[in-house]
Amino acid sequence: MELIFEKSVEGRRGFLNPCLDVDVKASIPSHLKRAKDCQFPQVSELDVVRHFTNLSKMNYSVDANFYPLGSCTMKYNPRFTESIACMKGFTDVHPLLPQLKKGELLTQGSLEVLYEMDRLLCEITAMDSFTMQPLAGAHGELTGLMMMAAYHKAKGNNKKYIIVPDSSHGTNPATAAIAGYEIISINSDKTGVMDIEELKSKLSDEVAGLMLTCPNTHGIFNSDIKKISEMIHAVDGLMYYDGANLNAVLGRCRPGDIGFDVMHVNLHKTFATPHGGGGPGSGPVGVNKKLIPFLPISRVIKNSSGKYELDYDYPESIGYVASFYGNFSIILRAYAYILYLGKQGLIETSNNAVLNANYLKERLKERFELAYDRICMHESVFSASRQVENGVHATDIAKFLIDKGCHPPTIYFPLTVKEAIMIEPTETESKKAMDEFVDAMFEADDLSRKNPKEFADLPKTTPVSRPDEVKAARELNANYFAE
Ligand SMILES: *Cc1c(COP(=O)(O)O)cnc(C)c1O
Repeated sequence: MELIFEKSVEGRRGFLNPCLDVDVKASIPSHLKRAKDCQFPQVSELDVVRHFTNLSKMNYSVDANFYPLGSCTMKYNPRFTESIACMKGFTDVHPLLPQLKKGELLTQGSLEVLYEMDRLLCEITAMDSFTMQPLAGAHGELTGLMMMAAYHKAKGNNKKYIIVPDSSHGTNPATAAIAGYEIISINSDKTGVMDIEELKSKLSDEVAGLMLTCPNTHGIFNSDIKKISEMIHAVDGLMYYDGANLNAVLGRCRPGDIGFDVMHVNLHKTFATPHGGGGPGSGPVGVNKKLIPFLPISRVIKNSSGKYELDYDYPESIGYVASFYGNFSIILRAYAYILYLGKQGLIETSNNAVLNANYLKERLKERFELAYDRICMHESVFSASRQVENGVHATDIAKFLIDKGCHPPTIYFPLTVKEAIMIEPTETESKKAMDEFVDAMFEADDLSRKNPKEFADLPKTTPVSRPDEVKAARELNANYFAE
C-alpha cells in the first residue's frame, strides 16, 4: 500500500485554515521560523479518508474478530462508556479551571467522579484508599513499589529484595529492578503456583515485599495466600497484588481481605476501557492504612460543605506520578462501567470469565498439551509440544490462526511452559465464537500431522507474511522520512 506521502500532489488541499487574528510576521522571532516548508503530504479530504479507512482494514481489532490473548484481558469495549466519555461536561473542562470562591474548584463534577471511583475501587478490593494517577498497570506497579520503599525508609528498615514468583508478569521483576531492588525469583511447583518451601528458604529480614499476580499467568489462584502473607508480614515485608487478572475474582474475593497491602487495577483490562496500541491505560493504585501517608499528591477530598477539593498537605507523599488526574477519560469509562453493571453484574463478569476459560481449556486439551490440568481461573496455558513432534511450533499455529480470522493467542509466555500457548477468551465471548476458535485450533492440529511443511508459508491473508524478524530488529529504519 502507498504511503500517504506518496499520494501527495503539489497544491492539493483537504482543509481551509481559519483566518489569522494575529500578525504572524510581526510576532514570531526570525530564529524560530522554518528555513523551508514542512514536508506534509498534500492530499484531499477524500484521499485522507480512504487512506486511513484502508489502513484500518489491514489492522486487526477486537471490534472485528476474536482476540484470545492470554495475560491481557482484550474484551469487548462497550459503546455506552464511549458516549459517557464524550459528554461535553467532561470533555470541555480544563484541569486548571480556577476556584469560584475558596474551596470551590470549577471542576466539581470531574473531581466527584475521581472521589467516587476511589470509594468504588475500595469497596471492590478492600483497600483503604486509591490514587487515580498512574497511567497503566506497570506505572501503577512502580507507584506501589515507590510507596513500599518510602514505608521502609520511614521505619528505618534495611531492605534489599523483592520476591517475585516465576509465574508473574514480566513487568513485576522489571518494576522492582527500576525501583532499586534486587529480585529473588521463586519457581512454580507441580501444581502451577509459587513453591512455598522455596519461599521459606529464601525469606529473610532484608525482604521488602512480595509481588504476586493472582490468579497468576498460569490462570491459577494461589490458595496459600493467607499463609504467604503471614510469612511476608512476619519480616515486615509488604504484599503487592498485581490486579491485572481481577476479572477472574471480581465480586468474590478482595485482595485487601486476604493480606495484600498495596495493589494496582488495570482499568483498561478489567473495567472495559479500550486498549489501543498499548494505550491509553489507567492503573489506579490502592493501599491499606499502612501506606496511606505515602500516596501521591494531589488527593481529592470532600470538604465539610460537600464540595470537592485538591489536598496537597501530605509531607510523606511520594509526590506526583502523573500530570493532573491521570488518564481521566479512561477512569470515567471504567466508572460508568462499574455503575452500569452494579454488584451483581460484576459477579457475573467473573462467573463468565472463569466459565469461558474452563470451557476452552476442556475442549482444547483433547488435542493440545495442557500445562496444568486443573480448574483454571480466567485463562489457561497449553503447549505445542505434541505438534512439535511433527516440526510445528507455537509460532506456526499462531500464524495459521491469522488466516482463520483469529488473533493469535500469546505464545512463548509464560516462560515456565515450553512452546506456551496462553489463552484467555474473556467474559464477553459467546459459546459460538469460542467453538469457532476451537475448530480453527483443531484444523491447525490436523494440518500439523498431515502436511506440516505448509505452515512455513503462513499467513497468506495478510499484507506482510513472515517478516525476517532478525533483520527487522538489526536494520531498523525509523528515519524513513528524515532527510
Ligand atoms: C497487563 C499486565 C501488566 C501490565 O499492565 P499494563 O497496563 O500493560 O502496563 C502487569 N501484570 C499483568 C499480570 C498483566 O496482565
